[in-house]
Amino acid sequence: PAKPVFAGQLPKGLQTISNIIAVSSCKGGVGKSTIAVNLAYTLAGMGAKVGIFDADVYGPSLPTMVSPESRLLEMNPETRTIIPIEYLGVKLISFGFAGQGRAIMRGPMVSGVIDQLLTTTEWGELDYLVIDMPPGTGDIQLTLCQVVPLTAAVIVTTPQKLAFIDVAKGVRMFSKLKVPCVAVVENMCHFDADGKRYYPFGKGSGAQVVQQFGIPHLFDLPIQPNLSASGDSGMPEVVVDPQGQVAKTFQDLGVCV
Ligand code: ADP
Repeated sequence: PAKPVFAGQLPKGLQTISNIIAVSSCKGGVGKSTIAVNLAYTLAGMGAKVGIFDADVYGPSLPTMVSPESRLLEMNPETRTIIPIEYLGVKLISFGFAGQGRAIMRGPMVSGVIDQLLTTTEWGELDYLVIDMPPGTGDIQLTLCQVVPLTAAVIVTTPQKLAFIDVAKGVRMFSKLKVPCVAVVENMCHFDADGKRYYPFGKGSGAQVVQQFGIPHLFDLPIQPNLSASGDSGMPEVVVDPQGQVAKTFQDLGVCV
């Protein structure tokens, strides 16, 4: 494994992590969490040590996408650090495992919860921590990006009309913070039936985004009819991106997996 790049500057809990990847979207429901979980398990399948941090405090979806035996985070009484839940070799933290329902909180409280969950967790040595970001580009997202030294960002969108404006917003936020956007994923872009390909949301503006912002990778992922069922069954099957296209881009970041 590569040497942790942030040692010395970061809260202790994050010092042993080599790469922190934000999976982000400007709208909810585009498949951000699905991509984040698929990315994490694909990287783990390639031999990397991986964790997922579900930063979507208002609507944590990780607990419905995995089915570990224990679903409640525990604290190490001596070090007062949080022990992540482990499922199929991937370490998981979500507000949904904190024993509370959906949060009704103001922004600063949310930032506090995120900060505590992220930085006081015993992540151990990780090649990748995948952060499932809350949707949008508001204060919470900005604070998170400023506090956490992100290695790279992936932006998830669907190919609707407004997608270009949305994606541009996300790219600008990350570029202001000097975080490279390495990939745009156009999720649910088509499906095949009766030997024909259908584009229910129209053709996306992905190519335009890639050209305008110089993002190195664009991935079109199809609608998978059985995906919702597998996401809801608590089995993180790699069905969105079976070839691991998105995960492979992270091998370019220089981490041996
Ligand atoms: P977000 O995190 O952006 O809110 P989710 O990952 O929770 O979105 O996905 C929203 C819903 O869409 C889920 O039920 C998920 O299973 C489904 N979904 C995501 N990607 C696909 C896909 N490529 N094909 C079919 N269903 C999908």
